[in-house]
Amino acid sequence: MIIAFIGLGNMGGGMAVNLVKAGHSVRAFDLSAEATDRAEDNGCEIVPTAREAVQGVDAVVSMLPNGKIVESVYTGDVIGQAPASALLLDCSTIDVATARRVGEAAAAAGYEMVDAPVSGGIAAANAGTLTFMVGGSDAAYARAEPILSAMGKAVIHAGASGAGQAAKICNNMLLGASMIATCETFKLAERLGLDLQTFYDIASKASGQNWSMTSYCPVPGVGPQSPADNDYQGGFAAALMLKDLRLAMEAAEGAGSPVPMGELAEKLYSRFAEAGNGGVDFSGIIRTL
Ligand code: NAD
Repeated sequence: MIIAFIGLGNMGGGMAVNLVKAGHSVRAFDLSAEATDRAEDNGCEIVPTAREAVQGVDAVVSMLPNGKIVESVYTGDVIGQAPASALLLDCSTIDVATARRVGEAAAAAGYEMVDAPVSGGIAAANAGTLTFMVGGSDAAYARAEPILSAMGKAVIHAGASGAGQAAKICNNMLLGASMIATCETFKLAERLGLDLQTFYDIASKASGQNWSMTSYCPVPGVGPQSPADNDYQGGFAAALMLKDLRLAMEAAEGAGSPVPMGELAEKLYSRFAEAGNGGVDFSGIIRTL
């Protein structure tokens, strides 16, 4: 298959390479020369513009920073430029409303499109072990699944257009709130004189068990290897958690759904990131407690 890949940053760089490894011809574009150099070294064909990248392709995959950029790239350079038979897949994390609007614009021009945001960070993007949450028709999902499988370990159909983004921000709002709850609990346990490994052994088998604790423990030396064991470097940056929480707040407001825990998580991550910790792994928020 010939696939255009737009956005070769921290995530997209590794994802594009996994499409090459799966045997696809990848025509790649990014505004940054550093990003395109790396992709070229890894077997992608670099083209000078997004418009040129999408000419004659079977599919277009994008991994871009935000909804504004996604909308401008699709409406300006993809829709009407790629063949109408090309499947469009946006893997960026963006707001639900923009995802639906771009999906509608694509459909109006005769394209099938999916929103397919990911769970998993840079390591998972490089290793091809991302989880994709896909919004789009059954037919579009059936076409998207084999392409996404080359970049991930799980591909799940969440529902109609926009449902992938909705699932992603709901999941990450729960993750943000559960991480803070896990951090404050371990700090309290410590101050109550509990041995933290012993508390982990108890809570991981009791009703407090959750992913933030048993897969990504924010306490160094406790639980499996995690960014806490690497001075909170690598992993999922607090700035990206804040981005997702802001998207969740926007969606909650639009849906009229109260999210008091999500709101508090957004406030705490905002304070944390604005204090110069945007690049720190999100579990590093334990240091503020
Ligand atoms: P990044 O900033 O490293 O990469 C984005 C790339 O897009 C950059 O290389 C940039 O030059 C390029 N770009 C920007 N505007 C462009 C345009 N108009 N045309 C072509 N290229 C353009 O970001 P990232 O960490 O790779 O994240 C990408 C997306 O993935 C975001 O939506 C993010 O929320 C989501 N995400 C990131 C992570 C993570 O851990 N980094 C995890 C899950 C989801």
